[in-house]
Amino acid sequence: MSIKANNPAYKSWIEVPSDSDFPIQNIPFGIIATDSNKPRVATRIGDTIIDLKVIFNFGYFTDLQFTVEDFDSETLNNMMRLGKEGTRSLRGRISELFEESNDDLKKNSNHLHKALLDINDVQMLIPISIGDYTDFYSSEQHAFNVGCLFRDPNNALLPNWKHIPVGYHGRASSILASGVDFHRPKGQKKPPTAEMPVFGESNLLDFELETAFFTYKGKPLGDHITTAEADEYIFGMALLNDWSARDIQGWEYVPLGPFLGKNFASHISCWIVTLDALEPFRVSGPIQDPKVLPYLEYTGDKHIDIKIEVVIQPENGEENVVAKSNYRHMYWNMNQQLAHHTINGCNMRLGDCYGSGTISGPEEGQYGSMLEISWKGTKPFKMNDGTQRKFINDNDTVVMRGFAEKDGVRIGFGEVKAKVLPTK
Ligand code: MN
Repeated sequence: MSIKANNPAYKSWIEVPSDSDFPIQNIPFGIIATDSNKPRVATRIGDTIIDLKVIFNFGYFTDLQFTVEDFDSETLNNMMRLGKEGTRSLRGRISELFEESNDDLKKNSNHLHKALLDINDVQMLIPISIGDYTDFYSSEQHAFNVGCLFRDPNNALLPNWKHIPVGYHGRASSILASGVDFHRPKGQKKPPTAEMPVFGESNLLDFELETAFFTYKGKPLGDHITTAEADEYIFGMALLNDWSARDIQGWEYVPLGPFLGKNFASHISCWIVTLDALEPFRVSGPIQDPKVLPYLEYTGDKHIDIKIEVVIQPENGEENVVAKSNYRHMYWNMNQQLAHHTINGCNMRLGDCYGSGTISGPEEGQYGSMLEISWKGTKPFKMNDGTQRKFINDNDTVVMRGFAEKDGVRIGFGEVKAKVLPTK
């Protein structure tokens, strides 16, 4: 498959800093708000924001199937209705307009003045109206670490783990845009030595380093999406911090799984990077042994090499890198997750969100949660201001950044960032 907008030789007439996540080969989609305008659809090259409603209204998309409502919208859901062919054609057209040999738009200073905005003059909003949210548990190292911490290293993985991409239905209403701070949750918990449960603020607030993917319109209830079809149903990806209150979670999760320990907040990065833009960074996954059932088999390279780091920044303090992981460490890929999710006839809808599960690499330093980094609090992380962290403190900001890089092209997500405010 050749996707024209991915051509590594392209350069834009818009300046792109050398370490930018947003060269002309990225063309992500997001929702911007400014002081003077209602929210609308935008893309980004370097540190320049491109207002796609304005570009549409000046007639640069007349050869495409879109209408002004697709861009004059506070979510990407409208423009996603045309599916992969639609967004691929849009990304292709934007790439042509901003490629250095094309001056159709560049020569029109009145259009430029209205369509291009400085990154500092816009606020990024949550890009998609999310209907359903599912979170998987698909990194083997993470599942192994958690199994060691809560059970025993000899039986760390439960018997189903290598046969099923394990997941649960989460809550979409509390998925937040990067930059929206939130309060430490409170709830019921039972300290290990206590006779009875107690109520109070969570003392074991944790991040989970994840990615998310978002779907176009799926198939009707009763049908399923195969691993071979899955790519056509996936719009793009974002970084996801799936916050977890380990003390609330630990007391409530048997027998029905995650509930109030998980649903108080999850944050996503604000630019949706299309799966098309990530195609050049595909890599092979692990050999799956035991062999999976036929509906979970797949062909081709379906994993993606995305480097992701996690940083804790105390109030007025320096950043501390606490983890460097990679999305390629997943055991189950998105195609398998989607095939499994729909094999019973469950219907996927436009704008649904799917978390990868915490992504932990095989070595220390690559673990995607404080639970694993501090080994359940027994090995506190030493911060560069001399303090320690077992979990996340009030007024700490947690930042995740991620990008893929190959042949001199870097395609990134920017960041997902949020500060933990004291309990309300
Ligand atoms: Mn999670």
